[in-house]
Amino acid sequence: MFGFTEEEEMFCREVRRFAQRELAPFAKQRAKTENPYPMELRRKMAELGLFGITLPVEYGGQGPGGYVKLGLAVEEIGAADINAPNPNGSLLAGHYITHYGDKQLAEEWLPGLINGEKTSCLVVTEPECGSDAAAIKTQAKKRGDYYVLNGEKTSITNGMHAEVGIVFAKTNPTAGIAGVTAFVVPLDIPGLERIALHDTGWIPNGRASLFFDDVRLHVGYRLGEEGKGFLYLMQHFDFLRVTIALWALGAARASLEDAINYAKQRTAFGQPISRYQGVAFKVAEHSTKIEACRLLCYRALWLKEQDLPHSKEAAMAKWWGPKLSVDAIHDALLIHGHYGYSTDCALEQRLRDVIGHEIGDGTAEIQKLVIARHLFGKEHAP
Ligand SMILES: Cc1cc2nc3c(=O)[nH]c(=O)nc-3n(C[C@H](O)[C@H](O)[C@H](O)COP(=O)(O)OP(=O)(O)OC[C@H]3O[C@@H](n4cnc5c(N)ncnc54)[C@H](O)[C@@H]3O)c2cc1C
Repeated sequence: MFGFTEEEEMFCREVRRFAQRELAPFAKQRAKTENPYPMELRRKMAELGLFGITLPVEYGGQGPGGYVKLGLAVEEIGAADINAPNPNGSLLAGHYITHYGDKQLAEEWLPGLINGEKTSCLVVTEPECGSDAAAIKTQAKKRGDYYVLNGEKTSITNGMHAEVGIVFAKTNPTAGIAGVTAFVVPLDIPGLERIALHDTGWIPNGRASLFFDDVRLHVGYRLGEEGKGFLYLMQHFDFLRVTIALWALGAARASLEDAINYAKQRTAFGQPISRYQGVAFKVAEHSTKIEACRLLCYRALWLKEQDLPHSKEAAMAKWWGPKLSVDAIHDALLIHGHYGYSTDCALEQRLRDVIGHEIGDGTAEIQKLVIARHLFGKEHAP
């Protein structure tokens, strides 16, 4: 039977206290600016161990495992400030470097990612392909001790702010998935230009396009073996997908709490609107679905923790969690009436933010393809 351990409960309470004290009060104001979050705040988050979950102790991390704790932390941060720096952000590079990088790469990047001084991004999507990631065209051609990278990436979360990216490029352009190789790229490298995208949500997260123009990267920055990049990407994507769901569900939970507080004090036709079933039942239904999806998420993370297959559960969580969150926040906004539609109320921005969770890390349709393949078998699935 699944339940949180004493240690997980304690960690969750600690993160919640921190997030409500340090993040929530400034969330609305920060959500509309493109500035990165202050380093001071990142350091405080690092002190709580937030950027080192699952990463090696020798570099300041909390050691292997801890995926349920990761989910709890992401959910609490999502509830306090959906745009705040998030443990799954440092893990983007941290996890890949830990699992596929050598000691030199680990020494160069892990301490900074874990102590909050450095941030990372995952660089897959290109202007002409997102869902079909195997169709990427960015090339890495080997020239002696260097690879020369050329191509254009886009829609990269934290692309404007990150110091390091895990970049996926073709070392064999005719080989499809088997031609994709992963690289650790310091983002101040000559030949790399970043251009900001101006988004409706996730605004402080600096989504960007990255242009590689004859970028010379030493072979030491290749992750693992040539041609294995796509395999590496997929092996660590599932748990990250679950955290995307929990991140959005946290924001939805906070929005329903806002709606409950508002409905208890707003009166219409002589009584608080909470006394109308049309209001209260909406909140009851969303809360039920959110709780069900949370359980699905934590079961998927628990499976990951036990080293058991969890791709199907992760895909279920990834499409359902953000969808439920969009629906819940939409209704929370409507419960706030005309005030909900104004920028004075945090809900309109939160709604824009969670739509991003529906798309980032794979759309609902792609998740349903994964689920269908598990249910029907590859031969019979769409
Ligand atoms: C907020 C946000 C953050 C992101 N962060 C990152 C990041 O950090 N790094 C990164 O590399 N990328 C990132 N992305 C990009 C994201 O991963 C892609 O946008 C996503 O995978 C979809 O790809 P696409 O936009 O090219 O859409 P397309 O692949 O062109 O799809 C368009 C539509 O067609 C549907 N579709 C496509 N194929 C199928 C199919 N086989 N069956 C049914 N429907 C299908 C899709 O579901 C979608 O609705 C981010 C995107 C957003 C919005």
